[in-house]
Amino acid sequence: MAESADYESFYRRSIDQRDDFWAEQAQLIEWQTPPQRICDYDNPPFAKWFVGGTTNLCHNAVDRHLRERAEQNALIALSSETDTEQVYSFAQLHQEVQRMAAVLQALGVKQGDRVLIYMPMIAEAAFAMLACARIGAIHSVVFGGFASSSLATRIEDAEPVAIVSADAGSRGGKGVPYKPLLDEALELSKYKPAAVLMVDRGLAPMAMREGRDHDWATLRARHMDAQVPCVWVDSTHPSYTLYTSGTTGKPKGVQRDTGGYAVALAASMKHIFQAQAGQTYFSTSDIGWVVGHSYIIYGPLLAGMATVMYEGLPTRPDAGVWWSIVAKYQVTHMFSAPTAVRVLKKQDPAYLKKYDISCLKTLWLAGEPLDEPTAQWISDALQIPIVDNYWQTETGWPILTLCNGVQQQPSRFGSPGKAVYGFDVRLIDESTGQELTEPNQKGVVAIEGPLPPGCLQTVWRDDERFVDTYWKSIPGRLIYSTFDWGIRDADGYYFILGRTDDVINVAGHRLGTREIEECIAGHSSVAEVAVVGVADAVKGQVAMAFAVVRDATAVQDEAGRKQLEAEIMKRVDGQMGAVARPARIHFVALLPKTRSGKLLRRALQAVAERRDPGDLTTIEDPGALLAIRDMLG
Ligand code: ATP
Ligand code: MG
Repeated sequence: MAESADYESFYRRSIDQRDDFWAEQAQLIEWQTPPQRICDYDNPPFAKWFVGGTTNLCHNAVDRHLRERAEQNALIALSSETDTEQVYSFAQLHQEVQRMAAVLQALGVKQGDRVLIYMPMIAEAAFAMLACARIGAIHSVVFGGFASSSLATRIEDAEPVAIVSADAGSRGGKGVPYKPLLDEALELSKYKPAAVLMVDRGLAPMAMREGRDHDWATLRARHMDAQVPCVWVDSTHPSYTLYTSGTTGKPKGVQRDTGGYAVALAASMKHIFQAQAGQTYFSTSDIGWVVGHSYIIYGPLLAGMATVMYEGLPTRPDAGVWWSIVAKYQVTHMFSAPTAVRVLKKQDPAYLKKYDISCLKTLWLAGEPLDEPTAQWISDALQIPIVDNYWQTETGWPILTLCNGVQQQPSRFGSPGKAVYGFDVRLIDESTGQELTEPNQKGVVAIEGPLPPGCLQTVWRDDERFVDTYWKSIPGRLIYSTFDWGIRDADGYYFILGRTDDVINVAGHRLGTREIEECIAGHSSVAEVAVVGVADAVKGQVAMAFAVVRDATAVQDEAGRKQLEAEIMKRVDGQMGAVARPARIHFVALLPKTRSGKLLRRALQAVAERRDPGDLTTIEDPGALLAIRDMLG
């Protein structure tokens, strides 16, 4: 392969000689029939990748490794909630996945059928995803923490032949029964699936409905020696649907293909993650999110790595639990989110020194802006490269990061790095639609079509929404909008300035709330902060900040609050100018977040403006928002 050591030429080739570039990457996976055409973009913005090729995700993630690493660890399922550890080799995983595949087939699931997976972070969830891929069924994983109404809408949208679930999850040592929520969702849903498969962990009693509900252990016992061959599917066959986090509104059902996704992930494991078969990958995400799909299940397994699936909090039994896992299983690659690092930052730093984690090579962080103080803190603590990466449920893999597998490049804290090969990233002036080509100009981060392999094919059952939502927001040109603001410096490093709907307009000045948040987060007393724009009769909008302090005693009384508020305002004045100064800084115990850990600014803004906060189905803790509403009076 003509691989350059120079990232710039590697990147240019991926754009200028797109088909040659991706034809080479396609060799990283095994095909039953090789692709006839690399990219069909005859009907923009719909891209078809590796047309004519047939393959199977499960074959590439599991079966192909049996030749060389059958006895090597593949799946390490750990729970600090139930205090259990299960380790599966590739051979054992292969067997379990075939049992699950046989059970699903016995329940009537066929190629192209949907299977909804509503499960905690247990090994059976991985078996179910891989079993679907094996038989060409389309999985739709719904985050286990969702309540019945969110679940019901997703059931209606997916129309699954079968649902796989469990009696309960567990969080902070408390069982969270799933079955009652599932039963309620099935009552609410107009669509009724034929079969429900329940994994009984013995955590909560379950009412089983005759004829519809089945017990996994019983059916598994009937298929112990199951041999279910992989179904070779077209490259463009949908592998799964998955919903976005719902941070900005109603979640969108992303539809992913098979061949493009497999190639994109396999290539990312090489060029971004510098993965080697036999190493161990630990992503702290959840299978309910895109990071869980790409970098707990498929990516690491495609690369022949062992993958850690962890049920539990980062702070229980204590704040050393992640590092104990790293040490015990010799984790080399770790993937987490800034929000989790901020949680650890509030804990005793001694936990970071308690275990020998010299095996760990790199920590990747994604999902939210990684502010400089947080990046610096974790970098100082771990003394390994910290690599920010920016992407979306829609894209399935990073748009911006440092491809250290191609060429080692220095991190710049505050920046997720450069445009990733395959992504023709542009900055666009929102009002004119003009492209911004000079350094340090602020624009909407957009991607010229075709999107590279692995990105969404369309919105599930809604081509029109796909085109209208993503490709028509910039006047006069068909280009994919990420709905995030960014700038690019002279060296090609991007900085994400927040979402396009998180911009506030103070007396005619357009300010990114993220920039104000960065500035406030730099104050040593602040652990976490959210800034929103609030309607103001005089200025149009004013900034309002909600901050969580590191030490609550500092803001116990009015005098303490006033002093800290004044200090922070002075800091904003000094760094950004008085125009950015928040009208008020409210000190709160908790900020409202989505279940994937993202700040729900739209809900905060609505409450601050005394409006109805709208769709809150993805909120982690409604109490956080209620407390703020009460505080504002
Ligand atoms: P919805 O689209 O339903 O409103 P969402 O955008 O939060 O929800 P995701 O696909 O989970 O759903 O998140 C993608 C978004 O997360 C990005 O568009 C960006 O705003 C933010 N993001 C992800 N990674 C980073 C990062 N490294 N730096 C800054 N922002 C990031
Ligand atoms: Mg989004």
